[in-house]
Amino acid sequence: MKKPISKKPLKTTPRVEEAAGLRSIQSVAYHIWEETYIGRGVKTLFKLNQTKGFDCPSCAWPDPGPDEVSVVAEYCENGAKAVAWETTKYRVDAAFFDAHSVESLLDQTDHWLEKQGRLTEPFILKPGSSHYQPVSWDEAFAEIGRQLHQLDSPDEAMFYTSGRTSNEAAFLYQLFARRFGTNNLPDCSNMCHEASGKALNETLGIGKASVVLEDIRETEVLMIFGQNPGTNAPRMLAELQKLKHNGGKIIAVNPLPEAGFMQFRHPQKPWEWVGKPTQLQDLYLPIKINGDMALLKAIQKILWEAEKERPGEVFDLDFIREHTSGFEEVINDLDRVQLDVLVAATGLSLAEIRQAAEMLLTKKRIIIAWAMGITQQRNAESTIREIVNLLLLKGAIGKKGAGTLPVRGHSNVQGDRTMGVWEKMPEAFMKRLGEVFSFSPPKAEGIGTIGAIQKMLEGTGKVFFGMGGNFALAAPDTKVVFDALRNCSLTVHVSTKLNRSHLVHGKTALILPCLGRTEADLVENRHQFVTTEDTAGRIRMSQGDLDPASASLKSEVAIVCGMAKAVFGEDDAIPWEQFSSDYDLIRDKIEAVIPGFESYNKRIRQAGGFFLPNGSRERRFTTRTGKALLTVNSLNPNQLPTGRFVLMTVRSHDQFNTTVYGYDDRYRGIRNARKVLMIHKADMAAFGLSQGDPIKITSFFQGEERVLEGFSAVAYDIPPGCVAVYFPEGNVLVAVDNHSPESHCPASKYIEVVVEKINA
Ligand code: SF4
Repeated sequence: MKKPISKKPLKTTPRVEEAAGLRSIQSVAYHIWEETYIGRGVKTLFKLNQTKGFDCPSCAWPDPGPDEVSVVAEYCENGAKAVAWETTKYRVDAAFFDAHSVESLLDQTDHWLEKQGRLTEPFILKPGSSHYQPVSWDEAFAEIGRQLHQLDSPDEAMFYTSGRTSNEAAFLYQLFARRFGTNNLPDCSNMCHEASGKALNETLGIGKASVVLEDIRETEVLMIFGQNPGTNAPRMLAELQKLKHNGGKIIAVNPLPEAGFMQFRHPQKPWEWVGKPTQLQDLYLPIKINGDMALLKAIQKILWEAEKERPGEVFDLDFIREHTSGFEEVINDLDRVQLDVLVAATGLSLAEIRQAAEMLLTKKRIIIAWAMGITQQRNAESTIREIVNLLLLKGAIGKKGAGTLPVRGHSNVQGDRTMGVWEKMPEAFMKRLGEVFSFSPPKAEGIGTIGAIQKMLEGTGKVFFGMGGNFALAAPDTKVVFDALRNCSLTVHVSTKLNRSHLVHGKTALILPCLGRTEADLVENRHQFVTTEDTAGRIRMSQGDLDPASASLKSEVAIVCGMAKAVFGEDDAIPWEQFSSDYDLIRDKIEAVIPGFESYNKRIRQAGGFFLPNGSRERRFTTRTGKALLTVNSLNPNQLPTGRFVLMTVRSHDQFNTTVYGYDDRYRGIRNARKVLMIHKADMAAFGLSQGDPIKITSFFQGEERVLEGFSAVAYDIPPGCVAVYFPEGNVLVAVDNHSPESHCPASKYIEVVVEKINA
């Protein structure tokens, strides 16, 4: 068991303006030393993201081609932290649960819970029990079978997926759910890039990035909206450095001045640790929260004014004529909208916006990257359609150095969706699935994350199955989600480490410990491998070779197959047994059901794997018009009552999703504490706040209030009227109904709040 964690007081230092470098190597060394056996840790890092190694279990940043992979270190600081965390020497076993009741564990921090180590065997919490106790795999599967068969309808069950799930496990998992009779497949993508998928599918015919790594290096201008690459996709910085070396320019648009788009020192180039770091951004626009759509429309309007003076020199009229529809409507809208109204909605000056437009004026190779700062907004889809508008007007898609780049957050979140993990898969997919497996998949649309919370609350969602992840914390409206999960008859979590979702449980709860990406998956002495899909749509092989943390662990695939046999019986027509002993058979079925996976087993064994077809990359736009859609999106300026702020949730540099590796948000200079509110010093003065003052934050949504206490005010470079807290702590303030009406993506980046000083 892990030694107690020392509680140090909040410490703030000036934020830094350069990312990576020697400090990131020191951080890697510290986490490897702190968490795992140094030899084991270092050996494993040499396999991370290697062609014959395993795919990083953290973010989904694309790997370079096999001839470019750095054999020394093809990973970043946060990838190394994820490996240290997974290969930890600490264990959560039966003795641990004997010593810790669920109630006592609820008092611990989330950092402490995961730091206790790897789960060693399946555990069950029986109705009325206070402690988890060991259970055999067969008993666990039988309990799941018993509870599922007790349901009045298959739609009383929900099968949640976190983005760490491999393609093979995700394909079998969605097959299991549909064979059982439901499309209730909520997944973590519902809470991150669902809006991107919706808007890109509508306008370009595919919900994925159109660019590959090489395009980033070749682009003339890269715009980065609502993304913090230095923390959430750190290997992106090396590509930004190549972009700069090739003469490209970077425009960073973010309420927070993140180190990751300011300056960079390549950690693998010691000569860069000293001397002048690489300047990344050429223009930083400290936009106010949700001012992005107005900025995009303002830039388009300025470019359109210039185009009218010099036809064909600013817009790519040939591309527009040949490949788009909706041009007239868009330019009429640009003529109609008032520039001053747009400028006011950005919180920027007209001069700053004109500078950005000037940088794009005559450029043809433009890439726009974005992440949660754009997608977790009520108008996310409209903003993303404006991103597409700007690129289409410039003809900047489907050619070298140009296109869309929604940067995915979790290592295989894109792959899971490709495998069919979605509550509303297209009819063609369902038809092929039914034909290949000789059954009739359910027709009724299922529910996503928001729908799952509502079903559990109203009692029509009785069995919650979590394939990885930490749903209780990742989902919005924490107190409501806790009540929802506790309303279930059964909650099941497939996990590697202890987390809060195990403690916020149904009447019966099961924890099913699985193999990690770093570990060898040996079945009948055959070393199985799985596959994943990165942000650029590359399918790669992932094969761990470490001895598993415990002999009782099972792979995600084996867990789905074990559950299927318990639910559908040994003689089910679907060959679950064969699938669990030979993953090539799963890939054969994926090939049969999903276009783009032809010769899957042959091509995946090629170094570097293969890319899936991507229409927008090839200027083949499978939209309702057969062309790329230029769209008119109305801007609804945000009016806030006096005294209110717009709050956004953000991640610290010392976490990945809900996993908190430590309390060192070093780029922002915030240490030892996570319950902090970042606020502009002028707003602090206006509200009588001083550095570190205890505060209460109250959010407002549709007449409801939600309160967060125990936080401290911290002065930070954020636009006046905007504030920020860390995720997942800030999820308490996000109403479950506060989401985009189109994709139901939670608006975790736009929460109306008041901040009050409280007496200590
Ligand atoms: S950039 Fe992302 S995928 Fe790459 S090593 Fe870092 S965390 Fe892992």
